[in-house]
Amino acid sequence: MASIFSKIVAGEIPCYKVAETDKFFAFLDINPVVRGHVLCIPKQEVDYIFDLDDETFVGLHLFAKRIAKGLKKVCSCIKVGEAVVGIDVPHVHIHLMPLNKPGDLNFSHHVEMSSDEFDSLAKEIAAAID
Ligand code: 5GP
Repeated sequence: MASIFSKIVAGEIPCYKVAETDKFFAFLDINPVVRGHVLCIPKQEVDYIFDLDDETFVGLHLFAKRIAKGLKKVCSCIKVGEAVVGIDVPHVHIHLMPLNKPGDLNFSHHVEMSSDEFDSLAKEIAAAID
């Protein structure tokens, strides 16, 4: 069965997309830890990041780097942090999160955002990505 993220890539489940290439896809996390929490995924459905072939592994990180640079222009932060967990969704994803203080990268904390806020933020980030 296709993962929830493959369904997002296929357009079967809606998302707030920020970028897409032929191999990779980035969108806002629906339950953000901080404002600007983005997920970067390979379109290829693989559960565990260290099972990716080398080309996809490197390509995903270069894609995430591009997204992080755009994200930093839009969400004021000291740095964009990166995390890989993958316990909930068995489809490789890199979490990108704007960070301003120790503890911002805390998965037990979440921020509320309206659909209008998600929508406008995704468009702003998309426009800031080179
Ligand atoms: P992990 O697998 O790394 O533990 O976490 C999965 C992440 O995917 C969570 O941060 C969760 O909020 C996010 N997520 C799960 N389902 C969806 C979804 O349908 N849409 C979006 N945009 N994010 C999701």
